Amino acid sequence: VYQPINAQNRILQQLPAAALARLRPQLSRVRLRRRAVLQEANETAETVTFIEHGLVAVIARTQADGLVGVGVVGQSGLVGVPALLGTRRAPYRCVVEVEGEALQIAAVHIRAAMNEAAVRQPLMNYVQSLLVQNVQAALCSSRHDLVQRLARWLLLAHDRLDHGVIPLTHALLSVMLGVRRASVTGGLSYLEDIGAIAKGRGAITVLDRNLLERHACECYRIIAGENARHLVAVPQVGETNRVQHRADLVPAIETFDYSGA
Ligand SMILES: [Zn+2]
Repeated sequence: VYQPINAQNRILQQLPAAALARLRPQLSRVRLRRRAVLQEANETAETVTFIEHGLVAVIARTQADGLVGVGVVGQSGLVGVPALLGTRRAPYRCVVEVEGEALQIAAVHIRAAMNEAAVRQPLMNYVQSLLVQNVQAALCSSRHDLVQRLARWLLLAHDRLDHGVIPLTHALLSVMLGVRRASVTGGLSYLEDIGAIAKGRGAITVLDRNLLERHACECYRIIAGENARHLVAVPQVGETNRVQHRADLVPAIETFDYSGA
């Protein structure tokens, strides 16, 4: 009999207690030091890291402009999707931006555990939330203005941390938003002037979350909603292999007219 593991990670919390207890000997607690590279671009993901505290930025590189942030991972997420999917690697680097802690497991062990549907499904749910986050971020960059994008980004970071202070620099925000540092400073000043945030040295404090939400574009609600959808219902032991055939899960087939959109 293993000691129960007190996981802070929201994905691990979705696993049935028995499955989590079986994984326990293979999970190790690791410290996330600031600027540590959890996963290098184009290298085989040997581990899956479930974030307990802290924040990890997913960074892509463009030939012309250098680094661009493509996503952010915190307590509701993990690093090592290629290890889960068996695709082994991805062209993105994952870097710790806010120090914290994580539970790490070897790729081979998590892959074996995924034979069980109750383990596999919460992990696949996360992959889908990540897809939504990435697609929405791409849409956001081409359609929404800087203050909206900045507000969205701060809200996502705020959700993924367990406190109201976001210890991020203007330099990182400029990478995450793919804009110049001066634009970030301008956007932050605007949000500070209206009383939504306070900016200090290397940290941003969220003062009025509702106000920040009102200044974010709809992308925030879409990303957060998708995330929340997967994190509410904790599967019960014995129920998890049952296939759901509820009427509202049957996809509707409609024709879509682009001209009216
Ligand atoms: Zn947007």
